[in-house]
Amino acid sequence: MKHTKIVATISDWMSDPEYIKALYNNGLNIVRMNTAHIDRAGATKIMNNVRSVSDKIALLLDTKGPEVRTTKVDSDLEVTFGDKVKVTGDLSQTNCLHVNYPGFLNDIQVGTKLLIDDGEIELEVKSKDDVFLHTEVTNNGIIKNRKSVNIPGVSIKLPSLTDKDIDFIHFAIENHIEFIAHSFVRNKQDILDIQKILDENGSPIRIIAKIENQQGVDNIDEILDHAYGVMIARGDLGIEIPSERIPSVARMLIKKCIERKRPVIMATQMLHTMIEHPRPTRAEVSDIANAVYNRCDAMMLSGETAYGKYGVEAVKLMNKVAQEVEQNKDRRNDILPPIDSQTSTLLASMAFEAAGEMGANAIVTDTLSGNNARHLAAFKGEFPVFAKCYRPRVMRELALSYGIFPSLTKPRKNRDKTIAASLKSLVKDGCLTETDKVVYVGSSYGIRGMASFLEIIDVKTGLSPRKEDDLFGLVGPMDD
Ligand code: PGA
Ligand code: MN
Repeated sequence: MKHTKIVATISDWMSDPEYIKALYNNGLNIVRMNTAHIDRAGATKIMNNVRSVSDKIALLLDTKGPEVRTTKVDSDLEVTFGDKVKVTGDLSQTNCLHVNYPGFLNDIQVGTKLLIDDGEIELEVKSKDDVFLHTEVTNNGIIKNRKSVNIPGVSIKLPSLTDKDIDFIHFAIENHIEFIAHSFVRNKQDILDIQKILDENGSPIRIIAKIENQQGVDNIDEILDHAYGVMIARGDLGIEIPSERIPSVARMLIKKCIERKRPVIMATQMLHTMIEHPRPTRAEVSDIANAVYNRCDAMMLSGETAYGKYGVEAVKLMNKVAQEVEQNKDRRNDILPPIDSQTSTLLASMAFEAAGEMGANAIVTDTLSGNNARHLAAFKGEFPVFAKCYRPRVMRELALSYGIFPSLTKPRKNRDKTIAASLKSLVKDGCLTETDKVVYVGSSYGIRGMASFLEIIDVKTGLSPRKEDDLFGLVGPMDD
């Protein structure tokens, strides 16, 4: 059983239920819809297909944010070293490369480098006039439509939310999507802008901050005050800051997230080779392993599953590598959340310790808001955490949290009945057997908030709730 979750990007033209089912059967947990490449109809198609496959797959809608992309590239443009390419944001021009930002020319100086498609192609600005940047190609490649355009060190004066983003946020609200991942988050205000729209509409959608430039890195603390989780968006981050800094910046971001018990996603180019080839590079396998060693909650696939030739194989491989590495990790290298004064934190920490000491097979919890389960996930322990959820939405949110295996349950009358019902359904689903031992983390029954107790139970015993008479039979009736 894999503990690290897999996010796969799906495009509208490669979203057949059979394909999504194959991905799901091989370890997919969350589907990302990248709105830079789709419209409402496309998103609706993906969403409906995903929901037809399983109610456990969470949906994540990725905004465009303040980013520049190529546009109106009708046929792929092959460029070689020394080629001259005119670039403009004015869509009425012809025989040139278009970008989606009309004010582009004003922000760019001569000598600047434009990096296209995750830095695959570099154009150097040699001169500019009123209409065009006149650039020269410094490395060969093919420029395609809607590819990223990064200008490291240049601050692009685009607003945080485009009209398209705002429309898609409403789409997400109307369609009860679980997560919005916001691109190019620079500070807390970028998160608050979305939160405001969510609040006005009474939406519980969780916001993931995509950290993809220096500003986002610098402001991570205030961003985490308002965001639910973080995506380490290495595609853009690796261009916006020197690439040799990416591993340590990533490690810092993961540490901050674990300390605040927030889910963190490692993203981009994890199996890039598999877009075209059936086998990954050794470095890609090591990259997946490092994401697991570093205790990311989730890993993301982009082109690999959105349009790659080997999408199913990529998910399958990621799943295999994660499982292998999770089994062989050394806990002494783990980043752990600090034990604060919250009961949930202490119980979560003790649950893993107790499970280890007692030779338990799993941790079981029931969770109303998902909070109990998120505390457990933050410890990234070696035992699976079976989280019984009362709400389908909470179940899907937990698809993003490390080591959490969520499923639905109904509220029961008391604590013992809750535990018995949870164990019974887990045995029925093949997650536990009667000879197993589990550590149960629960709240003194009811909706009283945080976790308040930890119980070590043999599944066989826990399956039958204690009857009051059992105790009366032993010691006689109580006179309270
Ligand atoms: P993108 O985000 O795929 O939307 O660009 C991820 C990244 O930049 O790594
Ligand atoms: Mn990006």
